[in-house]
Amino acid sequence: MRGGIRLFRVLGITVSIDYTWFIVFFLFAWSLAYGYFPQKVPDMSGTSYLVMGGVASLFLFICVLIHEIAHSYTANRLGLDVKEITLFIFGGVAQLTKEPDTPGKEFKIAIAGPLASGVLAALFYLLRLVVDEVYPGGTMQGLSAVVGFLATINIVLIVFNMIPGFPLDGGRVMRAIWWAKTGSIKDATRAASVVGKGFATLLIVFGFLQIISGLFIQGLWAVLIGVFLQQAAEGSYRQLIMKMTLEGMKVADIMTRNVVTVPAHIPISTVVERFFFNYHFVSFPVLKNGRLVGLLTLNDVRKVDKERWHTTLVEEAMERISPHRVLHPEDSVLHALMKMIEDGVGRYPVVDRRGNLVGILSRRDIMKTMEFKAELAEKEK
Ligand SMILES: [Zn+2]
Repeated sequence: MRGGIRLFRVLGITVSIDYTWFIVFFLFAWSLAYGYFPQKVPDMSGTSYLVMGGVASLFLFICVLIHEIAHSYTANRLGLDVKEITLFIFGGVAQLTKEPDTPGKEFKIAIAGPLASGVLAALFYLLRLVVDEVYPGGTMQGLSAVVGFLATINIVLIVFNMIPGFPLDGGRVMRAIWWAKTGSIKDATRAASVVGKGFATLLIVFGFLQIISGLFIQGLWAVLIGVFLQQAAEGSYRQLIMKMTLEGMKVADIMTRNVVTVPAHIPISTVVERFFFNYHFVSFPVLKNGRLVGLLTLNDVRKVDKERWHTTLVEEAMERISPHRVLHPEDSVLHALMKMIEDGVGRYPVVDRRGNLVGILSRRDIMKTMEFKAELAEKEK
């Protein structure tokens, strides 16, 4: 997950903004104030152009936000719960906790954004007509130009988002149609992601050609967008495969059961000799009076000076276990993996309802299981 700044809540959805947005905002305002508007409506003051650029960029931001809220609101109405939207350079990403379970839902959620942008484009177009009608002869040409720009940019947003590459809206629409036809969300996602990557590659090549022919900034933009799309297409496909592979699996199904534990009251030097050297594990759960109290990792040992290994006890060097930092046998593996990624932790001890240690689950265990399942699936074909 990338970092962002929380802005506000609307319709039960928290809206965050990615840091990249500030760069885009200023780049946009700048190129509008010094390039676009002076060309569209000449002979205005520099300050006017700056104000126009700022206002137009701000409203562009609001338009992108409305587009994203349309997706999320539709998703929420259809029973998927979206709690957060993060606005990135090229739009936004709604954090779907669940994938849509029918092609119909997928289609509706995907199309809601471009539809909202279409309504906005129409509104700004009408507004421009009104402005030109009420203030004839170009007396409000600045306002007219800003409103006209917003009508155009919403059309651009639709065109860009309807590119048929997953995870863009167009790719999602394509995935929904393919999914409805074949009945397989996996095949549909693969196809949509391949098209997405293909398009991204074209964009990158196009960008390099532009750079070679002297259009450096435009070319750079095309390359950047291409790279972003390529990663998104690849990432979302892998994420889906992961979700599908791990669906329905419980922690108890794949955890390591025979856990080697260390007592809390022995010195680190003893643990190094008797445990780390003998078992080659990178961490050991620590027990005190039969109960799990912490986790001693190789990293914890490294933090203690070697001369103090004889005098430092395990319980002084270990990480204490907070109730949050354990898994239960009945937890889903997917949930466990999300938790590990979120907390930046490689492994969690598994405890039963009474607090007894029953196993340990690491990210590696989960990856191994996924590889194993993938290999079995290959053989079945
Ligand atoms: Zn969209």
